[in-house]
Amino acid sequence: MGKNKAVVVFSGGQDSTTCLFWALKKYDQVEVVTFDYNQRHKEEIEVAKEIAADLNVRHHVLDMSLLSQLAPNALTRDEIEVKDGENGDLPSTFVPGRNLLFLSFATILAKQIGAKHIITGVCETDFSGYPDCRDVFVKSLNVTLNLSMDDQFVIHTPLMWLDKAETWELADELGAFNYVREKTLTCYHGIRGEGCGECPSCKLRKNGLDSYLQKKENS
Ligand code: ZN
Repeated sequence: MGKNKAVVVFSGGQDSTTCLFWALKKYDQVEVVTFDYNQRHKEEIEVAKEIAADLNVRHHVLDMSLLSQLAPNALTRDEIEVKDGENGDLPSTFVPGRNLLFLSFATILAKQIGAKHIITGVCETDFSGYPDCRDVFVKSLNVTLNLSMDDQFVIHTPLMWLDKAETWELADELGAFNYVREKTLTCYHGIRGEGCGECPSCKLRKNGLDSYLQKKENS
């Protein structure tokens, strides 16, 4: 039981939606979990719900409002501006401990529903500078979680070494390119698909998309 069951940490964005398609190819049973931490845009949770329903996977939404209580940041507070980090600082969107908590709760959920595999779209290639997106952190937490529950979970990070262009390529290989392009929400201002085009997240997404489309054209 559970060998072929997976939980995807899911936000309705490009990365986690690509991970969901990846998981659907690989596992017989897939469920997704979204964390509600008072994101500025409730839209994020709506999008996640719609995609989960659309792809016919069971969706868990867990209340993580304690995170914005503990660590106010640009993703949860309107008065904090979204901006890139300067002089080696982390961006204002960094939420200390976010992936530590998300992956821990996702794994506790996995235990409850009899899943062995946890999938997350974190990536250390494409700059963010978030320490809890690094491979060494995920591996370390995996060991800790297994020790804490005396179990053998495997945390998968299919995007860890991909840049944004390669993430689009993966979506394309999975037959999900248009779906991801049109249905997902990555924009910090809550606009689906191409987004506002101005925020750091939209710029990163667009640069990756442009470079993938260019590469495709040239091949
Ligand atoms: Zn945007």
